[in-house]
Amino acid sequence: MPSKLGKFILNVCLRIILLIILPGLLCVTPVHAATSVTFPESWDIGQAFVVALSSHTPFTEPSVTWQNRVVSLDVEPGREGYVSYALLGSYVRDVRAGNYPLVFDFIQDDHHFRVKCTVNLKAKKYPEEHLKVADKMVNPPAAEAARIKKEAQLAAAARRTMTVKRRWTTPPARPVPGIFTSRYGFRRVYNGVPGGYHGGTDFRAAVGAPVRSPFAGTVILTGDHYYAGKSVYLDSGNGVISLFFHMSEIGVKKGDFIEKGQLIGKSGATGRITGPHLHYGLSLAGQYVDAAPLFETSVTALLKGMKTEIVRP
Ligand SMILES: [Zn+2]
Repeated sequence: MPSKLGKFILNVCLRIILLIILPGLLCVTPVHAATSVTFPESWDIGQAFVVALSSHTPFTEPSVTWQNRVVSLDVEPGREGYVSYALLGSYVRDVRAGNYPLVFDFIQDDHHFRVKCTVNLKAKKYPEEHLKVADKMVNPPAAEAARIKKEAQLAAAARRTMTVKRRWTTPPARPVPGIFTSRYGFRRVYNGVPGGYHGGTDFRAAVGAPVRSPFAGTVILTGDHYYAGKSVYLDSGNGVISLFFHMSEIGVKKGDFIEKGQLIGKSGATGRITGPHLHYGLSLAGQYVDAAPLFETSVTALLKGMKTEIVRP
């Protein structure tokens, strides 16, 4: 039978051992994976949304597949260890209401994980807009057909650009201070002829007004195009491509790295226009979305109200 003193000494020794060993044990215990994805269960067609993949444990090669495009993601330090963000959306011209798959892929602890989610896209009504433009902008002369085709191919290739480094943040900087004169998604009727949807946001801007970049990024295409006029295409990573149309002067060239808010040229009245303005287009993995609401929001605000699903406990 151990004496009272013996019991006491044993107890003290155990406590000391625990005090010394326990913190050590906590330190070497592997951190729980606790990997989660955040996405909207339901969203309006044409409106941009943010999705996230986050984890306490490092992961590599993250991507998200949306509307048949694989979007390569960056891995950044986050509140929960590591996080990847994507800015996604759907083009009102091409997408109908319904359920669409959103698939995350990543490598963690030497395993490939695939997480399948569903986003319900809701129909959203965008108004019709009647515009009067030069006749050659509705019925282009046959001699211009080859040029128009080539420019469309260049633009499509630019919009397919997919780089990993995230240069975009929200809210973006306003390219010009002017008000919106025509919004995204407007069903346009040119000189009485239905001509498709407005894929961007028009800002009021006088000829010569300085145009600043909403995001940091790399210039991937510049040109003087038939419809777009003098234009600049900027890649901000993860399929986020900005388009600036109808400029009077282009102040950058292909390959230039641009900081957020940096001057890229001057607004103008070139291409298919009714008057001087800046057309700003936002293409997300090939889908034109409504940029206007983004100027008043942040990534954190965009993630609020979205669904978070633990994919590895
Ligand atoms: Zn426009």
